[in-house]
Formats: sequence, C-alpha cells, structure tokens
Amino acid sequence: MRAIAVANRKGGVGKTTTSVNLAVALARAGRRVCLVDLDPQAHATLHVGVVPGSHPLSAYDVLAGDESLATASVPAGDNLVVVPSHIDLAAAEVALATRAGRESILKSRIEADPRCKGTAPDAFDYMVVDCPPSLGLLSLNAMAAVDEVLLPLQPHFLALHGLSKLLETIELVADHVNPRLRLLGVALCMHEAGTRLATEVGRDVEAFFEASGDRHPAWSAARVFATRIRRNIRLAEAPSFGQSIFEYAPESHGAEDYAALAAEVDQAAACGRDDVRRAA
Ligand code: ADP
Ligand code: MG
Repeated sequence: MRAIAVANRKGGVGKTTTSVNLAVALARAGRRVCLVDLDPQAHATLHVGVVPGSHPLSAYDVLAGDESLATASVPAGDNLVVVPSHIDLAAAEVALATRAGRESILKSRIEADPRCKGTAPDAFDYMVVDCPPSLGLLSLNAMAAVDEVLLPLQPHFLALHGLSKLLETIELVADHVNPRLRLLGVALCMHEAGTRLATEVGRDVEAFFEASGDRHPAWSAARVFATRIRRNIRLAEAPSFGQSIFEYAPESHGAEDYAALAAEVDQAAACGRDDVRRAA
C-alpha cells in the first residue's frame, strides 16, 4: 500500500479538493483506496457524501480511543472507503498531548490492519490522508504514518514560503520519527493558465528542488507534477452535493485534471519500483 498525506500548513490551497478527487480518480482506475479525513472540519468526509456524525465512529476514536481503522471505515463508493472526520477531532490534539507515542498512533493502527499489508484479498493499494491546515499532532500523525507527502500549492507570491516550512517539517519528521518519509511532489492547484505568476511559481519550485535536493534526501526525488489543476468552478460546487468531480461534472476541466494527476501519481509508483529494481 502506498500511503500519501496531502499537506500544507495553509488553508484554502486545495488540500481537501485534491485528497478527495485524487482518491476517487485512483479508485475509478481500479485501485482500492482508503481516504482518511484528519481535518476536524470534515470537508473531505462531506465531499465523498458521508455526513459527519452519521456513523458512530470517526478518526477521533481511532486516534484518541482504541478503535481500529477497519471499524471506523465507511464505504464511500466503488473501491473507496473513508475514515470520516468529526468536529471532535479538534479535541484529539489536547487528548493526546500527554500520551507517550502520541505522534505514532495512526502508524500503529495501519500496522495492525491486514488490509494495509498487501496480502489480504481486499488490501488497499492507496491510503490518502487529508491533513488539517496546521502542523500539529494530527498532521504529525499523518506524516509519521505515510511514506509520501503531496503538497498542493496555489500559485501565489508567498507560495515558496509555505513550501519551505513544510519541507522543514518533513525533514524533521524524517530525521526523528519516520525515516521513510519523502516529498512525492508539488501539485499546482487553482492554476490560472497564461498568467505570469502561475508559470513563475512552477519554475521557481522546480529550480528550488534542483538547487537544494542533493543535500536533502527527503525531497531530492520530488517533482512539480506536470498536470496543473486549473481553476474550475465545478470543483468548488461539487462538495456541497457530496460528490467528487467525477460524479458531479465528469466532462469538466476539474475531472480531466484530477484524472491526469492521479495517473501521474500512480505512474510515480511504477517509476519508483523500476528505480529500486535498477539499483538492486
Ligand atoms: P484546503 O483543504 O487546503 O483548505 P480546499 O480544497 O478546501 O483547500 O479548497 C479551498 C476552496 O477552494 C474550496 O472552496 C474549494 O472548493 C475551492 N477550490 C479548490 N480547488 C479549486 C480549483 N481548482 N478551482 C476552483 N475552486 C477550487
Ligand atoms: Mg481542507
């Protein structure tokens, strides 16, 4: 199973839109996907059509209680389950603050779940974790549990600042908690085609990886995804119908872009395996 956290400490950059539509695109491509909503706002949960609180368990019970991922999972379409969020999750940061090993709870739940191991007939191919817009204990649990981080970035003159903060965090987590953690790549979201800023931010990020990657194994293999997620009103409308872009507006630019991004993410796995084979 590949586990990918979608993270950025800024809100409103496209984390939830990317988590949900990437998860659904992978599921539609035949991958079995578990979407974990770690944002107390529960927007990803709503986006896949699950009403927060309509199921007895949520990510709160997994992190702050003893519940397994399996008992908290809710079916959310073909090949897709969601571990829903609930506003209670905001209290998890406090509930966990004094607990030993508090940053590794999600990791231990994943390790205890046979569906995350690849041998079970219903094993997941992907876990996608939607992180809250902060780098607190919830995001830390995500980064301690996954191998890869996908960073959605809105082309903005402060975008690089957000990037360097997240990179510092990834490196800290990789050094102290989860040595396997890597930045998979940057997805440029809400892209306004033809604007100078959008082109420049993409180029700046690529230049930044090229200039500094060698010294930082946690992001030396990171890329800016070729797919630009264009600004598309359909993407903003879909969540209120509890539908991904593929159900709400299958012919839209949004659907086209997220299908292409999912193909790139899936391809990155294939490349990774080839690299491993070549090195072996
Ligand atoms: P985050 O999870 O980082 O806070 P969201 O994914 O919730 O960000 O996106 C913030 C807002 O922007 C939401 O209202 C969402 O529907 C909208 N949005 C996200 N991506 C796009 C896009 N490509 N085009 C238009 N609106 C978008
Ligand atoms: Mg969000």
